Amino acid sequence: MTTGILSAMAQEQAGLGERLDEVRIERYAGREFHVGRWHGREVVLALSRIGKVAAATTAAALIERFGVSRIVFTGVAGGLHPSVRVGDTVVGTEFVQHDMDASPIFPRHEVPLYGRSRFPADAELTGWLAQAAQAVLDDSDLIDETTRQRFGLLQPQRLHHGLIASGDRFVSGAAESAALRASLPEAMAVEMEAAAVAQVCFDHGLAFAAVRNISDRADDTAHVDFDAYIQEVAGIQARALIAALLPLLPP
Ligand code: SAH
Repeated sequence: MTTGILSAMAQEQAGLGERLDEVRIERYAGREFHVGRWHGREVVLALSRIGKVAAATTAAALIERFGVSRIVFTGVAGGLHPSVRVGDTVVGTEFVQHDMDASPIFPRHEVPLYGRSRFPADAELTGWLAQAAQAVLDDSDLIDETTRQRFGLLQPQRLHHGLIASGDRFVSGAAESAALRASLPEAMAVEMEAAAVAQVCFDHGLAFAAVRNISDRADDTAHVDFDAYIQEVAGIQARALIAALLPLLPP
């Protein structure tokens, strides 16, 4: 079984490709795929780039060209639900495209001709991902105190499970995030890729799971220091999470 690991940002996979055994780099569809083995598991690491179409293209390549049989997505997201703070982690249980709207022909958010607005995460894969994510949050040595204070990370960083909303928009206004909360009250986080990958995996009958580190609150403060946050917090946690996840997967 080959596992595809998708990340939106280069900082999240930096250095991981080199740690694979028997690694080869294949360029395809304008992307680099690191194909190799880790702890005896076949893996392909790839960067999706940003947005739903870029993510769907990458997921389709992982499936059709590299034959992966499950896909895990790591990335950052804006916190939507009031309980979700910067530094927390959200594991997706379901995914919705918040900008899908073919109403009045189809209900708002419904993906036309699928008869559904939400695509599920695979429960088993999500369980392993949550276990790895919790291990990362419990590792107090990973992010030092100065960095925690700098980004206002409250302790403990918490793990949430729930709906993740994706759309082709960086949500960075209080009014916009309030509107999203009103239309999707259970949504924990907003980002730009996971629901697209979930749909591709649904089409192919593949297991999918996604985890998001909360980089901002999707409001007027999102995000002064986005790049620094990815570099100093989210990237470090994402790499640790992938390293913790792979040994949990059945070979
Ligand atoms: N400054 C970055 C921009 C990244 S866009 C750059 O130049 O590379 C935001 C990325 O983080 C997307 O991949 C998206 O999935 C996620 N994300 C984080 N916060 C978000 C928010 N508030 N709204 C939408 N996407 C968000």
